[in-house]
Amino acid sequence: MSQEIKKIVYCPAGHSSNDIVFPSYQNSIRSNGNCHLCTKEHFIQEFKTWSSGNADIDEIIQEFPLNNNDISKKLQWIPYDNFENIEHIADGGHGSVYSAQLKNGIKYYWNFNTRDWKYQFIGYEVALKEIKDFRFDLVEFLEVIKTFDSEFIDEYLGISKNPSTQNYIIVMGLFYGGLHNFFDKKFCELKWQSKIDILLSITYFLGRLHEKNSVHCNLHSGNILVNRYFNPSYFEIGIDLSSCKSENDLIFNSNKNSKIYGSIPYVPPEVLRGNVFTREGDIYSFGGIMYEIVTAQRPFADQAHDTYLMIDICNGVRPKVPDFMLNWIPEWYSDLMYRCWSDNPSERPTAAELGDFFYEVYIKCQDNIVDDDVMQQLQIADENQKNISKSQKQELFDLFSHSSKLDPQSCFIGRYIYTLHGLHDLLEEIKSGKSSDPNLLLKSNVSTTSSY
Ligand SMILES: [Zn+2]
Repeated sequence: MSQEIKKIVYCPAGHSSNDIVFPSYQNSIRSNGNCHLCTKEHFIQEFKTWSSGNADIDEIIQEFPLNNNDISKKLQWIPYDNFENIEHIADGGHGSVYSAQLKNGIKYYWNFNTRDWKYQFIGYEVALKEIKDFRFDLVEFLEVIKTFDSEFIDEYLGISKNPSTQNYIIVMGLFYGGLHNFFDKKFCELKWQSKIDILLSITYFLGRLHEKNSVHCNLHSGNILVNRYFNPSYFEIGIDLSSCKSENDLIFNSNKNSKIYGSIPYVPPEVLRGNVFTREGDIYSFGGIMYEIVTAQRPFADQAHDTYLMIDICNGVRPKVPDFMLNWIPEWYSDLMYRCWSDNPSERPTAAELGDFFYEVYIKCQDNIVDDDVMQQLQIADENQKNISKSQKQELFDLFSHSSKLDPQSCFIGRYIYTLHGLHDLLEEIKSGKSSDPNLLLKSNVSTTSSY
């Protein structure tokens, strides 16, 4: 029996296809000029030109191309002059978001034939998230996303710095709005199969995040980014990870918090009280997304996001589903949503449990299998939504007229909020009206909306 012998290939620099690039990764040499060891060595040379001005940031982004299998898919230092056609999109919680084009693309691999870099994403549209909040810890953010594999952080391309403001910039692929904008435009077209697809995508993501012992800490429909097609049958999401924290760090710093960052309707009651954010907290936030998927409204959109609302949430108040929508929503769905919103974190489902459940429903939807109560309820819900009356259509239309429904003192972007623990003595004075509420936004501050 003859055994096929793999031919050893060499690159002009003398690397062999038998060399080891990373502990579990053998070199690959191709005729198009791509040798992973050459690329690795040239990246190391490049590091001398990567100067963020912060040694910790330098160190982390230099580790990116070296520690994982896919050298080309790692965060890079991207000089600011590589961006053109920069346009302001929105202001978000930690800063401003701009769209731009990558003039020269980013480095893909060192081509030993041309003895130059091969670039990718030339002319690509990207989002520049300029960090203006001095409390945002970029090093911590990079530390957390360093633990993810390349598939998971695909939307992140690199780090840059605006030379005129000296602010750091997170460079991401450009998505066309958040999940909320998507619902605004597509809600009436969405069938249950698409809704389940969206829920599955998010729970899959959350499951991966929790597997890595990370907690998102700020999950809401503005942080879930939807691809440019806005097409329910070709749904692709990205998740803004900028609030992610390592669970170990969170638990290590488990003193009660006086201030937290987030949007009140998505923040779990235990965190509003001042306790640490946990993975169970992400599940509570996910309950808010489940609510929006079936009602087209964000939770508590019609009331002020103030300390009174926080107290209500801590007392068990949850968003209400409009009566006319009740027969569009399977009972199991409501039960699951309320389990996510449970006051007791240990009663909430895990991301893995949610993911497994939605996966099963998704597969059955695809194959048109109606073999149990879950699927039967889903079928009836779809029928009921299809056959809505004229007056229900009008009510739905009214819901989309946000100007009449959205409370001017609601706030769906991340911001700093005093916890009930942080308000402490002031709490009684706020309740009795003796003190003004520091969590109540002034009207003039509420005008910004952001998908990031
Ligand atoms: Zn080589």
